[in-house]
Amino acid sequence: MRPGIIADYHLHSNYSPDSESRIEDIIRVSREKNIEHIIITDHYEIADEHENILNVDEYRKKMEKYSLPVGVELGWNGIKELTVDTTKFDYVLFSHHYIENPVNQTNYKRYLLRLLDIVNRFDGYHALAHLDFPRRYHEYNEPFAKDLFDVIGEILKTLIKNGKSLELNTATMSIYGEPNPSIEILKLYKSLGGRNITIGSDAHELEDIGKGINDGIEILKKLGYNYILVFDIEWKEVRI
Ligand SMILES: [Zn+2]
Ligand SMILES: [Zn+2]
Repeated sequence: MRPGIIADYHLHSNYSPDSESRIEDIIRVSREKNIEHIIITDHYEIADEHENILNVDEYRKKMEKYSLPVGVELGWNGIKELTVDTTKFDYVLFSHHYIENPVNQTNYKRYLLRLLDIVNRFDGYHALAHLDFPRRYHEYNEPFAKDLFDVIGEILKTLIKNGKSLELNTATMSIYGEPNPSIEILKLYKSLGGRNITIGSDAHELEDIGKGINDGIEILKKLGYNYILVFDIEWKEVRI
């Protein structure tokens, strides 16, 4: 067991519209919590209802000043024109944030079909964030039903084929006791030969940095995963 936390690769700073954390404070808190690797992944949202506010060049300079890899959470609805040069980032966490109401199995399926369509035609990212994201907004956080696992499998196979990673997002551990994606989806990923996992807390506040990561690692170990990915000039596997 490590004394600290291996990595937190999903963190928001005040470069995101929904966080007020200063980068200096994120670095300080990460050190206090013994987090070995961090990447700040602020929102760059491309969807009709959002106007992107991230100034990429200024943001890159800031990360370079602190010798941090340049990360981004690239939210895309799959429709609006992609105007960002994704090669400007060391870590692109692709997110699909569009959720339809009511949040139920029917709309879970529609979410998955959009996601499958996007991963079949988009290559400019490293990891897919919070695969079963709409579950966060379901009244009882109902898991994705078994009859959706065919399409989930198609998404996972596409990630594997294209050399993309799957993010284990631990923000929901304290809400409903499971990460995004769920344990059942992580089992499916493993059974399909998937092994590229990145991990992140999705902290929008300083106190949430690193939250749930070690519990997420324990889940991975129980499922037979031995490594997660970290970025150190290049991507590499570290033993968990
Ligand atoms: Zn997100
Ligand atoms: Zn996020």
